[in-house]
Amino acid sequence: MPNYDVIVLGLGGMGSAALYHLAKRGVRVCGVEQFGIAHDMGSSHGQTRMIRKAYFEHPDYIPLVERAYTLWRELEAESGAELLVESGLLLSGKPNSGLIRGLETCYRVHNLPHERFNAAEGMKRYPQFTLPEEHVCYWDPVGGYLRVEGCVDKHVQCAQTHGADVLIHEDVLGWRSDKDGVSITTTKREMRANKLVLTAGAWTTASFVELLVPLRVLRKLQFWYTSPNIAEYGRGTFPAFYVDMDSGGFYGFPAINDLGIKLAEHTGGERVDDPDELDRGLRKGDESGVRDFMGAVLPQIQPERTKFSVCMYSMTADEHFLVDRHPRHPNVVLAGGFSGHGFKFSSVIGEVLADLTINGTTQHPVGFLGLGRFTSF
Ligand SMILES: Cc1cc2nc3c(=O)[nH]c(=O)nc-3n(C[C@H](O)[C@H](O)[C@H](O)COP(=O)(O)OP(=O)(O)OC[C@H]3O[C@@H](n4cnc5c(N)ncnc54)[C@H](O)[C@@H]3O)c2cc1C
Repeated sequence: MPNYDVIVLGLGGMGSAALYHLAKRGVRVCGVEQFGIAHDMGSSHGQTRMIRKAYFEHPDYIPLVERAYTLWRELEAESGAELLVESGLLLSGKPNSGLIRGLETCYRVHNLPHERFNAAEGMKRYPQFTLPEEHVCYWDPVGGYLRVEGCVDKHVQCAQTHGADVLIHEDVLGWRSDKDGVSITTTKREMRANKLVLTAGAWTTASFVELLVPLRVLRKLQFWYTSPNIAEYGRGTFPAFYVDMDSGGFYGFPAINDLGIKLAEHTGGERVDDPDELDRGLRKGDESGVRDFMGAVLPQIQPERTKFSVCMYSMTADEHFLVDRHPRHPNVVLAGGFSGHGFKFSSVIGEVLADLTINGTTQHPVGFLGLGRFTSF
């Protein structure tokens, strides 16, 4: 007799959402997490995550992000917490950059609210910025940010209200699938279920998930700064932004508490061979890109660093996600390789994972995220 219908392995961004959608549908589900809920050891921490319909990476993400917005609003209504803030999003880059070309493709394919203007107009609207004069700007009025820890926390809490069990501080050492279901071994027990959802984030190693689709884990930093004139960079005054410079892509969020404005570089990042060995300290040179960016693009900030945090991106070869049934184990569904832009989708990915686990298929257009695009798996 299995202990559960479904076990969800890893309760970060994606696993917490899968747990919620499974529990809401009445499935007997248990989530197992090696750390606590909404911890700062994986990829889903640091106060804010950008959400946007300005999807330069690929227009196929738009139907998913539309559904993600709806599900975030539903989770807010159910939990009573503010999770999604549409602060507006300013994007800026050279006319022939991947960013601007990708946005133009996205807006050609999908009828989405947006504005296009030049750098001078961008600086008129937001004088806090000094943008390179040859830049083109796009404005996404529904872009903004998610409160990342709150999203994970509320998915788990609401899942528990719907009957899910949760085991924390329990490391899954291994799993096995057979014709009748799956078994997992944790540091504390053996468990059986009919199905397994693998959402292990940066721990989605080829050996752990039994797939030959390598993920490249990158060490990424987030920084917070306050300043004597921080009120000019607060919520309601200052937008979320992404600026594509020759030196890399940089993004940030308005100051939403005493930590001040948050800034980070999307590009770059040092390879991490083992997520358990991630260097979580601040190294010489870690901050230089963001400092140079601030000096050039946000020159009026007189920055005083209040905090830094180290996080991990899990990159696939094409930087699109992996969401699929396991090709060798019919009882296993997996989601990983979110390549530094997945969090906004976690609400809808949870729904997709619940569909794939219960029905073996989903109405959501996730074919482009399947394992079939890689030749060997
Ligand atoms: C600095 C940074 C900025 C980002 N900015 C954005 C952004 O602005 N917008 C956006 O959409 N996305 C962004 N992303 C990407 C996004 O945050 C990630 O794609 C997303 O959080 C990945 O979620 P996940 O569930 O795959 O991983 P995680 O949230 O890390 O969850 C994996 C979980 O599995 C657990 N686990 C692993 N192995 C085991 C085991 N053996 N036993 C038990 N538990 C286990 C881990 O402890 C962890 O809790 C950013 C990422 C980073 C690092």
